[in-house]
Order: sequence, then C-alpha cells, then structure tokens
Amino acid sequence: MIVAKFGGTSVGDSAAIERTTAIVRGRLAQRPVVVVSALAGTTNALLDLAAQAAKGQFIVAIRGIEALRDRHLAVIDELLGSGPDAIEVAADTSVLFDELAHLGEALSVLGDVSPRSLDAVAAYGERLSAPIVAAAFLQRGIPATFVDARRVMITDDAFGRALPQGEAIAEAARELLAPLLREGRVPVLGGYIGATIAGITTTLGRGGSDYSAALLGAALDSEAIEIWTDVDGMLTADPRVIPGAKLIEHIRFDEAAELASFGAKVLHPSTIAPAVKRSIPVFIYNSHRPHAAGTRITFDAPKLSVRAVAGRANVVLVNVKSSAMLGTPGIVRGIFSVFERFKLSVDVIATSEVSVSVTLNDELHLDAVLTELRAFGDVTVSRGRGIVAIVGAGLGGHTPTMARALAALGDLRVHMCSLSASAINLTLIIDGDQVHEAMRRLHRAFFEEAT
Ligand code: ADP
Ligand code: ASP
Ligand code: MG
Repeated sequence: MIVAKFGGTSVGDSAAIERTTAIVRGRLAQRPVVVVSALAGTTNALLDLAAQAAKGQFIVAIRGIEALRDRHLAVIDELLGSGPDAIEVAADTSVLFDELAHLGEALSVLGDVSPRSLDAVAAYGERLSAPIVAAAFLQRGIPATFVDARRVMITDDAFGRALPQGEAIAEAARELLAPLLREGRVPVLGGYIGATIAGITTTLGRGGSDYSAALLGAALDSEAIEIWTDVDGMLTADPRVIPGAKLIEHIRFDEAAELASFGAKVLHPSTIAPAVKRSIPVFIYNSHRPHAAGTRITFDAPKLSVRAVAGRANVVLVNVKSSAMLGTPGIVRGIFSVFERFKLSVDVIATSEVSVSVTLNDELHLDAVLTELRAFGDVTVSRGRGIVAIVGAGLGGHTPTMARALAALGDLRVHMCSLSASAINLTLIIDGDQVHEAMRRLHRAFFEEAT
C-alpha cells in the first residue's frame, strides 16, 4: 500500500479535487490511504478568525466563518450536484460550521484564546475537507471511506505542536485502516490534526499534513509516501524566491530533512524521520502535472557537494558570554537545560571558549529563557535575523565549496556560521531582510554560473 497526501492547493477548489480524484484513481492498484489538507487558505482564515473572536470582534469573526461556509458549500455543489449524497455532505458541513460559530462566540465572550481552543478551531479545516473529498471520490467510483484522523493520530497535549505517539498510532491504524484496505477501500483522512488519548483535538503544527502522511506510512509500513503539491518537486531553492530553481530528481533523506528545517516549506521538517525509520521512499509530485518526474527521496542518491539552497527569516540569535566558561565543565549543559525545560529546540549552535551562540525559531517563552540564562553570563539577543544554508551530503570538508559560498555572499554581513561534523550543510546567520538576496547569490554561484 501507499500513502498519498494532497496539500491545500491540490484540494483548493472543485477543479483541484477533480484532478486529485484522477490521480487517486490511477493508483488504486497500489491500495492508497489518502491524506488531505484543508482547502487552500482555510487554516490561515481559521486562525485569523480565532484571534478576531478573542479580541471581541465577534461580527468580523462570524463574517469570516460565513465566507468559509459559502466556499465549502459551493465546492460541494460544484462537485456533488444536488443528489442525496450531496445533501448529506452539505448538511454535515453546515453542522460543523454551526459548531465553529458557537466556538467563535465562546472565544469572544472569554476574550481569550488558549492554545487548546486555537487547535480546536484550526482543526476544522481538515475536519471539513476530508469528508468532502471522500464524497467526491465515492461519487466518481472510488470506494472511499472517510475516517476521522483524530481516531488514529494520537498525540500528547502540547497544543499547537503536539507530539505524535507512534505506538498508539500504529495500533489505531492497524485497527481502523488496515481492515478497510483489506476490503479494497480507500481511507480518506485529514492531515495536520490529531487528538490526545482523552479525545481532545490537537494539531501537529503548521504544514503538518506531510507529517501525518509520513506517520501513517510508517504505521502501516507503506511502500511509498507521496506528497502531492503545487510545484514539480523539491527544487534547488524556493521557486517563489528564485523562479529559475531547478528540479531535484533524486535526493537523500538527510539532505531533504536539512532543507525542510532550513525553510524548504514543500516538506514539513518532521516528515523525514518516520520514513527513515521504516526506509520508506518519499516522493514529491505536482498535482497539476501528475506525469512529471517529481522528486524521489531515499538513502542512496549520489553525494553532491551542494544539492540546494534554503533560507528563512524570523530567527532569534541568543549569545551567552562568560569567562567562567573557560575550563569549567557543565556550563554548556546548564545553558542547554534551560532550552530543554522550555521545550525549545535550538537550530544552529556555535561555541567558543567563552561563549555559546544559538538560534531559535521564534520568541516563544523568550523572556523567561533569557532570565534563566543570565545565571550563566552576559546574555545578548538579536531579533530579526535569518538563516541561509547550502545543503549537500558531499559538502564535508570541501573547502573550495565553503570558500565559494562565503565569497558569493559578498558584502552581506554574516553573524554566525556553523558547519556540523557530519557536514551536510553550511549554515550562515545573516540579517533577516537579506535572506532572499543571500539565497539568490548562493543559487547563482552554485547553480547558474558555469563551474
Ligand atoms: P502544500 O499546501 O501542498 O503542502 P506548501 O505551500 O506547504 O504546499 O509547499 C509548497 C511550496 O513550498 C511551494 O509552492 C514553494 O513555494 C515552497 N518551497 C520552498 N522551498 C522549496 C523547494 N526547495 N522546493 C520546492 N518548493 C519549495
Ligand atoms: N492545513 C494545515 C496548514 O495550513 C496543514 C497543512 O496544510 O499541511 O498548516
Ligand atoms: Mg505544506
């Protein structure tokens, strides 16, 4: 069997869902489990309206909810017509929107939105899309069965970025999905959403549908995990920044994981781990061009010194400096235990005899973290930084490549630089507003100039 995940633009409107249907029909022999995102833009709209409701702007939030209701009902109407199955799906959809309106009202009365209620709101996107897609499949002759992802994707209660519980997921998948597959049915689930053991709705973090697909692939030991999106595959850079970025036909797991964590949004950074654990190849395809080559992610792509360039802004750089570090064991551990206590994952690290510099993805708990870090030395913080990285499994110790990367940056200021011992990426911390320019310069040096 395979898991096929369709992102927001691949289910964004009735035409996209038609294309997705045709793709799934072509894969029935491979016994697909289908994972879908919310209709493109829905999750953003839901998070916005939760914030509006919590600010007391109830009317604005309700208008947002009604616009989403109209959009979903229009898609149902275009896809399913007006027969009894259309009426049933439209009625179920409306019930979900009524619930959402009540939730919005409750938030506006409270004047506050907790991470738990934010997840409850955000989850409506996939709770709405998956039954609609399943109904479209059924009407077009695909034996689909909608499955509420919250019954399978069991997580902890870290709302907003819940941690999937592998064992519980595998058990639920064996119980709920495997029998459907044996009967020749096509389970259709929403990505991104899950629930705690107690049944409280959670989400896996933005872009998390890719991760859902990989977790289900691992749970069911699938032959492949397919990520269907709006670009031809993983490219040598984000095509929105570098329109001439080229397709990577074959890339290694470790390279893809690095690229994802340094800003290649085409893949959620956590997607690779479950696939690696079970050695399941991951494919990225364009749902607009289903017969194009796409990208294949495995262990054994040839090692290149530079495979691709990635970057992202909104990075916070924290530096702890203290002469007490000189020859004092345990200080570094103490510093990192602060990040651990706040469950913050540190992206890039550089150390010297007297200082430790780390980058963080956002400002969550930052003030409290800084207070605790001051016990170890002078702490400075630089907000508004960015990361650019060149990634390639053959980069290790290849001095000319590193020299070329630094030379390509020219007059752009580099605040920190990190090359891991496994050396599959060279990571540079620069000013956040220079990330795109840095990406363009690096891409030009490695992919556009004759070597
Ligand atoms: P989906 O909704 O299908 O999950 P996303 O918007 O999450 O789609 O991811 C696809 C987008 O990722 C592309 O439109 C592209 O702009 C962006 N992207 C960033 N880096 C890369 C890269 N290296 N290769 C391909 N796409 C990338
Ligand atoms: N719909 C969710 C989001 O927009 C998850 C996803 O699309 O992967 O973040
Ligand atoms: Mg995505």
